[in-house]
Amino acid sequence: MVWKRSTRATGGRSGDGVIGMLENRVETVVVVGAGVYGAAVSDSLARRGARVVVVDAGAPASGTSGATFSWTNSCGKKPRAYHDLNVASMEAHRRLAAVRPRADWYHEGGNLEWADDDAGSAKLREKVDGVLDYGYQAHWLTRAEALDLEPDIDPAQLPDEIAFFPREGWIEPARLVGHLLASAVSSGAELVRNVAVTDVEVAAGKVRAVRLASGRRLPADAVVNCAGPQAGRIAELAGLELPMRNTRGVLIYTSPVAVSVSCVVHAPRVHLRPDGAGRLLLHTAEIDDAVRVSANGEISVEPSAVEEVMEAGRAIYPAIRSATVESVRVGERPIPGDGLPVLGRVAELPNFHFAVSHSGATLCVHAGDLVAGEALGEDHTDTLAPFRFERL
Ligand SMILES: Cc1cc2nc3c(=O)[nH]c(=O)nc-3n(C[C@H](O)[C@H](O)[C@H](O)COP(=O)(O)OP(=O)(O)OC[C@H]3O[C@@H](n4cnc5c(N)ncnc54)[C@H](O)[C@@H]3O)c2cc1C
Repeated sequence: MVWKRSTRATGGRSGDGVIGMLENRVETVVVVGAGVYGAAVSDSLARRGARVVVVDAGAPASGTSGATFSWTNSCGKKPRAYHDLNVASMEAHRRLAAVRPRADWYHEGGNLEWADDDAGSAKLREKVDGVLDYGYQAHWLTRAEALDLEPDIDPAQLPDEIAFFPREGWIEPARLVGHLLASAVSSGAELVRNVAVTDVEVAAGKVRAVRLASGRRLPADAVVNCAGPQAGRIAELAGLELPMRNTRGVLIYTSPVAVSVSCVVHAPRVHLRPDGAGRLLLHTAEIDDAVRVSANGEISVEPSAVEEVMEAGRAIYPAIRSATVESVRVGERPIPGDGLPVLGRVAELPNFHFAVSHSGATLCVHAGDLVAGEALGEDHTDTLAPFRFERL
C-alpha cells in the first residue's frame, strides 16, 4: 500500500535521493519498538517523508535504553568493519548534537582508563596500540594531566600512566529518544504507546501488515524490527529465526552529589560516569553476576555486590562518600548470536528490516539512518554487508 502526499518532503539527512526516487510516493513503515533504535529509525524515516507508525509495548525508552551505561565509543571493538561502524556512529552523534537546537543529551567528555596490575596494564597497552593502529584517538596521560581533567580523583588511586580516549563520551538515552520521537511526530509520524505488536502478516514473500494487542491492524509497506531484547520474538512472528544471546547488566544510580566528574571513568574495580543532576552511574562487569531471578521471574541484585561497587567508587572519588544508592536497574543487552549487530533488509523477506544490536547507544543514530534508508529502497550493502541477518 502506498500513500501519496501533496507536498514533497524535505530535510532528510541522507535520504533526499530516495524521496526523488519515490517520486512523491510515501510508503508506510511500521517501526516496532521505541528505544534508541526505534526512535532513530522513526525520525530518519519521517524526515525523509515516509508515513511512520512507531509502536511500543510500553513507554518509549522503558526497555534497555532506560537501563544502560550508554558510553559512546569504539574502544577495542572488532572486527574492523564493526569498529568503523562505531566510529561513524560517534561522528553521527556529534553531527546530530551540533545541528539540533537544545541537544542536551550528548556529552563528549572523553574516557579515562587505567589498570592496577601487570596483566591489566598489558591488556590496556594492547588495546591502546590496537585502536591507534586503526587511526582512533587515544593518548597516555600523566597522573597530573589526568587530575587536570578529573580533579576530585584521589591521586593515590592513579598509576603513572592513564589512557585517555578524547572523542568518547556518553548519551542520556531517554532525552535522545524523547527528542527523536518529538522530531518524528512533528514530521508526521504516529507514536503508539503501551500496545504490543502481536502478529506480523506475511503473504507472497512480503510483510503486509502488523497486528496490535488492541486489535488494530496496521497495513505496512515495510516493517523495521527495533524490539531490542525481544527482537527474536518479533522476527519469529514474521517467520524468521534470529538467534539471540542476551545478557543482563546492573546499573547503580547514586543520589546527587557535589563532585566534579565529567569523563567516563574506567578504573579497575568500577566504571562510572555522570548521570545528570549531580547523580553518578556506576557499573562493573563483575556486578552483572550478582543478578538473581526468582522462580516467579522477579529480578534482584545482591546488596553486598552493590555496596562493593559503591565502595570502589568512593575510593576513587572520596567526595562521593555521602552519596547513597538512589536506584539499581537491571538492563538486558540485546545481543545477536555472534555478538555483532543485525542491520538492514532481509533477503528472503525484502520489506522486513532489522536494527538490533548491543552498543546501540553508540550505534543508533548512524545505523538507524542506514536502516531507514534501506526501508525506503536505498542499498547500504557497502556498510551493512557484515551485519546482514543472513550470516546467522
Ligand atoms: C548494562 C548495560 C550497559 C550497556 N552499556 C552500553 C554502552 O556503554 N554503550 C552502548 O553503546 N551500549 C550499551 N548498552 C547497550 C545499549 O543500551 C542497547 O544496545 C540499546 O539500548 C538497545 O536499544 P534498542 O532500541 O534496540 O532496545 P530497547 O531500548 O530495549 O527498545 C526496544 C523496545 O521494543 C519494545 N518492544 C518489545 N517487544 C515489543 C512488542 N512485541 N511490541 C511492541 N514493542 C515491543 C520494548 O518495550 C522496548 O521499548 C548497554 C546495555 C546494558 C544492559
